[in-house]
Amino acid sequence: MVNSMVASQEIGLNESAALVMYLVAGVLFIFSLSGLSNQSTARRGNHLGIAGMLLALVATVFGLMQGGYGVTAIAITPAVLIGAVLARSVPMKGMPELVALLHSFVGLAAVLVGISSHLDPAINVPPGEQTIHEIEIFVGVFIGAITFTGSIVAFLKLKATISGNAWLIPGRHLVNLAALAICVCLGVWFCQVETSAAMVPLLLMTAIASLIGIHMVMAIGGADMPVVVSMLNSYSGWAASAAGFMLKNHLLIVTGALVGSSGAILSYIMCAAMNRSFVSVIMGGFGTGTSSSQTEIEGTVREISLDETVSTLEDAQSVVIVPGYGMAVAQAQHSLAEVVKTLRGQNKEVRFAIHPVAGRLPGHMNVLLAEANVPYDIVLEMDEINEDMSDTDAILVIGANDIVNPAALDDPNSPIAGMPVIEVWTAKTCIVMKRGMATGYAGVVNPLFYKENTWMLFGDAKENVDALLQKLKR
Ligand code: NDP
Repeated sequence: MVNSMVASQEIGLNESAALVMYLVAGVLFIFSLSGLSNQSTARRGNHLGIAGMLLALVATVFGLMQGGYGVTAIAITPAVLIGAVLARSVPMKGMPELVALLHSFVGLAAVLVGISSHLDPAINVPPGEQTIHEIEIFVGVFIGAITFTGSIVAFLKLKATISGNAWLIPGRHLVNLAALAICVCLGVWFCQVETSAAMVPLLLMTAIASLIGIHMVMAIGGADMPVVVSMLNSYSGWAASAAGFMLKNHLLIVTGALVGSSGAILSYIMCAAMNRSFVSVIMGGFGTGTSSSQTEIEGTVREISLDETVSTLEDAQSVVIVPGYGMAVAQAQHSLAEVVKTLRGQNKEVRFAIHPVAGRLPGHMNVLLAEANVPYDIVLEMDEINEDMSDTDAILVIGANDIVNPAALDDPNSPIAGMPVIEVWTAKTCIVMKRGMATGYAGVVNPLFYKENTWMLFGDAKENVDALLQKLKR
């Protein structure tokens, strides 16, 4: 559609004005990303991104399109309405799944744009550039199809509709390699035949790439899922960039590259947080082994009452709170923020320790704490606070499990061996708030719960934090 767009003088915007607006939008996206890198500027970053997107939309519709406004309005209006309702109504707990689903839309869009670009007779490709154009289409559809199906599988895994464990078939690397080789051959065929005949290799490749996407994400599971989320985020950027090449739309190329590269950097950060190499994550299979420690944990589980928890906190001078996915499920962040306020009012040092893969989305805990207006300066990353743990009087672990599992450091056979964790067990007292003895996302039993200085406060995190707040305020 956009590739056949020309300047429209009648509506006041010409092509040059639209291109200038594109440039401004691109700069706004860059500032937006830079703002999003820090909690205190994240809101501003978000607003800049929205402004850039609005500008891009106006420039595209009124500056580059030649007619077709009715069809565009019919396509965009329900999408805008559905998007607005979804974004407002989705609970914070459902955000990871929503993000995965949105990545799938970008992938699907790249596939559809690629196929329609291939079929569009109005596209005038300059002589000598035909093969480049065909490669753009083929690669764009390939990345788009992997992103589409991979994101759908990630969505189902995060929603727990299907198991989050890695699903491994024998000879899976060979299967992937063979599929890739077939796609390369189909690409050669695609570039050598007429448009109508070329649909066969294009659609065959789309089907194979879709299967690669499913297989790749199915084979990654357990504690490796954070990398899948950031990796698909990156793929969705490259898919958008590929669509930009097909449509000769510079802003889409730039925006896609920004998303693609920031997602790649995020994947790198996630891998570093788990002490894993990107290649080993993509190869899959991490988190599927069983640890001997799962059956051989020594010690007993000790329960603590609410009153005892309150006196532990009242006696403590330094308190560290480690939130995890359970806090998001319980939506305990607002009451927790009140607890923090009350404790700080009693002149105690209260800080948060955030693990890079806590929750189900990069930055999940930071978003929840920011939503509850917890001051940014007391929210510290794992690396910044881990060595202070042994000097801490009381630690409250709220709905976290894998990120505080000592087996990651102590047990080389553990499925999460090598992953850096928050060393809560080194503090004087550690209180873990969760509903029962269930394992976390990686499905690994946690020896922390059996340690001598660990106490379990069972129950829903929100109900317990609410009760704690009332008792602390008395
Ligand atoms: P975990 O999934 O390890 O543990 C969460 C714990 O919360 C559970 O053991 C559960 O125990 C408890 N819980 C659930 N609901 C409640 C509730 N209402 N009240 C109190 N407790 C509750 O979470 P972590 O944050 O510790 O670790 C994140 C895990 O998720 C890692 O394995 C990470 O790799 C993975 N992951 C992370 C992603 C990311 O991008 N951050 C993406 C995908 C996966 P119980 O049922 O007994 O209450």
